[in-house]
Amino acid sequence: MLTQEGIVIKTIKYQETSKIAFILSENGIKSYLVRNANNYKSKNFSYSQELIKLSFDVAKKENKKDSFEIITSGKVLDNYSNIKNDIDALLNSIEILEIIYSLSMHTNDNHTLYSFLSKILDLINKNIAYRKLYCLIFKTKLLYLLGIAPNFSHCSKCQTKEDLYSLQLDSGTSLCKKCFSLNEAIIYGKSYNILRFLYLTKVEQFDEKIIKKIIEDEKSINDINEFLDRYYDYYLGYKSQTKKIANKIKNN
Ligand SMILES: [Zn+2]
Repeated sequence: MLTQEGIVIKTIKYQETSKIAFILSENGIKSYLVRNANNYKSKNFSYSQELIKLSFDVAKKENKKDSFEIITSGKVLDNYSNIKNDIDALLNSIEILEIIYSLSMHTNDNHTLYSFLSKILDLINKNIAYRKLYCLIFKTKLLYLLGIAPNFSHCSKCQTKEDLYSLQLDSGTSLCKKCFSLNEAIIYGKSYNILRFLYLTKVEQFDEKIIKKIIEDEKSINDINEFLDRYYDYYLGYKSQTKKIANKIKNN
């Protein structure tokens, strides 16, 4: 019986034929040595690829020079093949894995992080058409796990819980319609309401009708994406490399 379960977030080549695999599990991200992983005929090849869910067993390396644990056997639980057959879904998923790889040290709750990632990848894989929204849901809800949750509960000036209308970037707090004034570092109006909805609504509660309504509103989706990119940059100094590359591909 294989004892651990995880999702391969990133791999790098190691020595001639091996790979280091960074795997997120309920215990956080750990790096493992996979021998012979570059040889497609090897049994280790299949599960040492990025974007794979696997179960696996490990052994400590005899050589004490470096402390990698070695994966001794593994089995692919999900290959996310629908995602891999769709370039946009793949780019969205790589963006998600990149965020996890870069920022997971900001969370203490790896148990929730792992089950959340697993859930989102399942949803994208099953509903390729909604990939963009699921990626957005991921980035919105992750703010809580990263300890930089925006305050969507009341207006930071007058404390009212009614008619909330905007979110300030620099304070991460909401303003109501009366207290709102336009400046550059905010998201407001309809885009704010959708962002708030994405943040507060459980993933399970997004039914087809709601999803379709949100993804029709391209302007709001773009606003939210842009705001979240600024938010990640402002609080964690994080800029997505995947996005830069994706934009280059699309503009060519
Ligand atoms: Zn107010």
